[in-house]
Amino acid sequence: MRLLIMGPPGAGKGTQASLIKENFNLAHISTGEMFREAMNEKTPLGIEAKSYMDKGELVPDSITVGLVKERISKEDCNNGFLLDGFPRTISQAKFLDEILKELDIAIDAVINIVVDKSAMVNRIVGRRICPKCGAGYHIDTIKPKKDGICDVCGTALIQRKDDNEETVLNRLSIYEEKTKPLLDYYQEQDLVIDIDGMGDIQDIFKNVANVLGAL
Ligand code: AMP
Repeated sequence: MRLLIMGPPGAGKGTQASLIKENFNLAHISTGEMFREAMNEKTPLGIEAKSYMDKGELVPDSITVGLVKERISKEDCNNGFLLDGFPRTISQAKFLDEILKELDIAIDAVINIVVDKSAMVNRIVGRRICPKCGAGYHIDTIKPKKDGICDVCGTALIQRKDDNEETVLNRLSIYEEKTKPLLDYYQEQDLVIDIDGMGDIQDIFKNVANVLGAL
């Protein structure tokens, strides 16, 4: 199965992507995560991406698309993959079409997580992540057992640098302007499946699993 997961910042894409990955045995390709890893390792790519990410801007295609092409061509994607955070613009979607054509494969579905706009800023600003294993938490709704410590690996949780209110507003407006039009692009190909992203994480995942099971 080859999937895209879409939705505005704060929709819970990363959380659902992890559950899909585990339950459907797919390679999870998150461009945001790849950039964050490169940033932590201070590679030239990471240093360049950081200047965009800190402001909530999109990293230029000249950097992003090559990274995705390399990743999709890796062996662990042969069983299927879930693209999370890519494509984010029509030009990236067209690039993805080219890569898929070269590899003679196609996308089976686009999971679109739908959430109330009013919930998004609070979801993002309260978000905390584990810098070591990537597990996600929220200060009100997904609290770790021990305050500020990851349940999975015991590492101190951090707030992403781009999860502050100012940057979030920029990310939301970029989503509206550049990423949302992609839904029409994929709707024309009859690939979009809307999932209600409000409510309990496991209930949302049940809905996702049901639609994926029926593909
Ligand atoms: P995310 O983890 O998906 O929220 O992405 C975090 C940040 O990484 C975004 O705000 C962008 O700065 C950058 N980024 C992630 N994916 C892309 C992409 N497909 N194109 C451009 N920038 C991206």
